[in-house]
Amino acid sequence: MSEPTAVNRYESASAWREVDSYFVDALDLEDEALVAARESGSRTTMPNAEVAANQGALLAMLVQIAGARRVLELGTLAGYSTIWFARAVGEGGHVVSLELEPRNAEIAAQNLERAGVSERVEILVGPAADSAQQLVEAGVEPFDLVFIDADKPSNPRYLAAALALTRAGAVIVVDNVVRDGAVVRADSGDARVEGVRAVVEDIANHPDLDATALQTVGLKGWDGFLIARRR
Ligand code: SAM
Repeated sequence: MSEPTAVNRYESASAWREVDSYFVDALDLEDEALVAARESGSRTTMPNAEVAANQGALLAMLVQIAGARRVLELGTLAGYSTIWFARAVGEGGHVVSLELEPRNAEIAAQNLERAGVSERVEILVGPAADSAQQLVEAGVEPFDLVFIDADKPSNPRYLAAALALTRAGAVIVVDNVVRDGAVVRADSGDARVEGVRAVVEDIANHPDLDATALQTVGLKGWDGFLIARRR
């Protein structure tokens, strides 16, 4: 039998998970509040759908690199990524997170309380498109970073909302844009893949957006982030 090649040695999901776990432990990325939030995901309507710890740390770093003080999140779940954002914006910063399911919002509120960041976070319960429209109508101060991580078919609507709620220099991150590679299948018939491809097209056609997309492997399988910035 031939020696395993570099490719097949590293392509297994278990190896990806092991490497993620190594970095999360070695870099000591999670404290008790984050672990509790992650574990509480099992009580939500969408268990195991939060970002991995090293992804949360990346999002937090984007906030800090961008100097973002106001973050808008679409898709709260148990508030795991919300905690990363709330810590990254620091005291005086503000996070608004939009969540459809009251049960998830309630669990998230408990997790934010435990993490000591409730005062900087507002969770708006209801369809994210409606909540975002209310924010537009209320004329809220623009956000510096938007994280789109709710129902994927609505990604193009969420991009439009993000554009209505940000100004030049703002960062827009879209999660789950690879979907086990399904993103390349134009004829997938999967509304989530269509939502990703449509938002990629909208971003590419927008005159004021620079963007890139990165594949990721790890605890969350094979997926990726799209990162855009308003000129
Ligand atoms: N951002 C979270 C994290 O990393 O910890 C994970 C969010 S999870 C992938 C997606 C969330 O979006 C779920 O909590 C789901 O209930 C919510 N959601 C689904 N459809 C929605 C909608 N139309 N409006 C608002 N939230 C929605």
